[in-house]
Amino acid sequence: MRTALVFYGKNDIEVENKPVPRPGPGEVVIRVTLTTICGTDVHIVKGEYPVRSGLIIGHEAVGTVHEIGAGVSGYDIGDRVLVGAITPCGQCNSCLNGNSSQCGGVPLGGWRFGNTINGAQAEFLCVPFATANLAKIPDGVRDEEVVLLADIASTGFSAAETGEVKLGDAVAVFAQGPIGLCANLGAKLRGASLVIGVDADPGRREVALRMGADFVIDPGIAQPVDVIKRLTNGRGVDVAIEALGRQETFEEALRCLRPGGTLSSLGVYSEELRIPVDAFAAGIGDYKIVTTLCPGGKERMRRLMELVRNKRIDLTPLLTHTFTLSRIKEAYDLFSNRREGVLKVAIRPDQMKPGDEQR
Ligand SMILES: [Zn+2]
Ligand SMILES: [Zn+2]
Repeated sequence: MRTALVFYGKNDIEVENKPVPRPGPGEVVIRVTLTTICGTDVHIVKGEYPVRSGLIIGHEAVGTVHEIGAGVSGYDIGDRVLVGAITPCGQCNSCLNGNSSQCGGVPLGGWRFGNTINGAQAEFLCVPFATANLAKIPDGVRDEEVVLLADIASTGFSAAETGEVKLGDAVAVFAQGPIGLCANLGAKLRGASLVIGVDADPGRREVALRMGADFVIDPGIAQPVDVIKRLTNGRGVDVAIEALGRQETFEEALRCLRPGGTLSSLGVYSEELRIPVDAFAAGIGDYKIVTTLCPGGKERMRRLMELVRNKRIDLTPLLTHTFTLSRIKEAYDLFSNRREGVLKVAIRPDQMKPGDEQR
């Protein structure tokens, strides 16, 4: 029996002992060495995104291979692996069409951990479609350096990729939470000449200047669209990234674009989303609106880990706090209430028990 965080209902989560999972065909069970809490997990706990009672939640994991199911090759017990938050099958129409996050042809179908199957906030995690999803961690790269690639970095970078940021582009990023900060880095990696971060939180604006933003705007004291227009000599930005999921920021992202620019949306919207006709140039301004759900799968993880290994990115400043798995409820409390300048929390299973190596 091993420690895991179980969701029972709105604001009802418990740290419990659960049986160690056994891998079925095509599956691998990993021993989790590091995980974290995502904003989406907070939505789940607050009852804003429905998952079934009794589910282990969490969807970001680094670990070591513990038991290998039938039909899985290429891995050995003890291999260090990173698993993306999205675990596509790699074989369905959606996956083969290049939309692996929508695996199975259902919206969000590739998001399984802590959504449709048991998740990563546990000592052990059963990984489905293991051959498509277990990415070996290169030697010399630490768990802390890669754990955030599973979700927020893959998501944040994807906004710049889907938005097709080009060399010399000006980019505005609305909200500078962990995903927005990674969107800054993604825009910079793709050659943006100017990255403008917008956030009402002074702490987050300060971090933004160290993580990819050249300029930050406090929407509480200045109208972001006006400032962005000024910073771009009246042109507007080439790409605006929405990383919050609100009508207001979506609208501002649209209004700060140059004609023909791209609104790249990452936000999870929970209410009706309107496109104001004046901001959309009556529908004939050649604006593009694109969306992305976190890209997963082992090749995506391999590419992102190469960015870490070759020192193109360093995400460790985002891991501001560390908790053991048995104290994860305290971590939820800190993270969801945004206390102590928290950006992301590292969650580590408690001390290994004797005999763990042999399972
Ligand atoms: Zn997430
Ligand atoms: Zn698939």
